[in-house]
Amino acid sequence: MAKKVAKFCERLKAFFKKYLFNPTWRCASCGREIFEDEYFCKDCYKALPFNSGVICDHCGRQTIASENYCSTCKNVLVSLDKCRSVFNYEGKIAFLIKQAKYENKKYLLDYFANELTALYKNQSFTADIVACVPMTRKSLKKRGYNQSKILAQTFAKNCNLPFIDCLVKEKETSRQATLSRQERRKNLQGVFRVAKRKEVKDKSVLLIDDVTTTGSTAEIIAKRLKGAGAKAVYLLTIASVPPIDKY
Ligand SMILES: [Zn+2]
Ligand SMILES: [Zn+2]
Repeated sequence: MAKKVAKFCERLKAFFKKYLFNPTWRCASCGREIFEDEYFCKDCYKALPFNSGVICDHCGRQTIASENYCSTCKNVLVSLDKCRSVFNYEGKIAFLIKQAKYENKKYLLDYFANELTALYKNQSFTADIVACVPMTRKSLKKRGYNQSKILAQTFAKNCNLPFIDCLVKEKETSRQATLSRQERRKNLQGVFRVAKRKEVKDKSVLLIDDVTTTGSTAEIIAKRLKGAGAKAVYLLTIASVPPIDKY
């Protein structure tokens, strides 16, 4: 009985969360009215850029050839064991991720966490714990929430895995995408620290983030986690920027 009540409360909470944050009952993409308990109308859902074609077996980015490693991650993402992403970072998805990240549209994070859950259930690797890419205390205060943490917590709950807030970001960094590879490495030195080493030791860690751009942030975090004894580090993101050699 208690279980049933808890389940009902959970559903009620999810309903209010969704419709209070999205009170118009409209498609998150085109704004058309929808009548099903969905986030998108059928047309917009079909048009989403799912990353479902040929991908790099390592970093999970869309590639043109069925090579095992794309040129973007080869010999670069060495501490990360495998990365996968739900979408290609383009068009509507790029817009919606920004809305979830900067415009307080947190109900979209629930949708993205559901897609991450479906993606994880299709993989051959399994994780022991879930972690997220952290923000500095200052940035967190400014934005009010860490989108990666919300994603990771919802995802962990969906998958029945423990979420461990084991990482700390100690200083701000410049935007990685605008820097050269060498500058990126320098920019990330001394930025991340593993706070709960005991909980990471001998575990397979699944790191959650919003977008894979260069992958260098997740790579340095994976290096730190492995330094703390993690057995494996995987990365799941909502979307990844296809490698340069695609164009
Ligand atoms: Zn629509
Ligand atoms: Zn790759």
